[in-house]
Amino acid sequence: MNPSWIPFQDLATPMADVHTKEQRSFNMSRIRGKDTKPEYVVRRMVHGMGYRFRLHRRALPGSPDLVLARHRKVIFVHGCFWHKHRCKYGRVRPATNAELWEKKRQGNVERDRRNLKALRAMGWKILVVWECWTRDRAKLEQRLRSFLEDGTPQNTQPAPR
Ligand code: ZN
Repeated sequence: MNPSWIPFQDLATPMADVHTKEQRSFNMSRIRGKDTKPEYVVRRMVHGMGYRFRLHRRALPGSPDLVLARHRKVIFVHGCFWHKHRCKYGRVRPATNAELWEKKRQGNVERDRRNLKALRAMGWKILVVWECWTRDRAKLEQRLRSFLEDGTPQNTQPAPR
């Protein structure tokens, strides 16, 4: 399990009261069950498309969440907050412990960048699926299909701010 995958609701109390309304409803949508976690959503979808994969290969930089060795493709599922996606969830600035969170998040962003670079150098094709993408299943499926069929790398971690 990727340590950066701590769901919002599992964090210590300081975070609890700094959530925006939007973020809170986003979190609530994920509390229903384990299977609604973005990573499971992606796994189930890729599996349903007939692809087989392995999980969290530690031998690879960043232990990608899904590894399709035969296709030389990897998929990461990233939490918007933790990996600083350029979306409303990624832009949330906690009111308390702001510096601490920022340091953690920036550390993740830098680690991601190094890992993606290393994987690319090893010839892997990479798709980063953002947590917020899993809210629109039809679009997510389209994005996964496009990556798996054409191997078009769709996106990477945005440039540092
Ligand atoms: Zn996002």
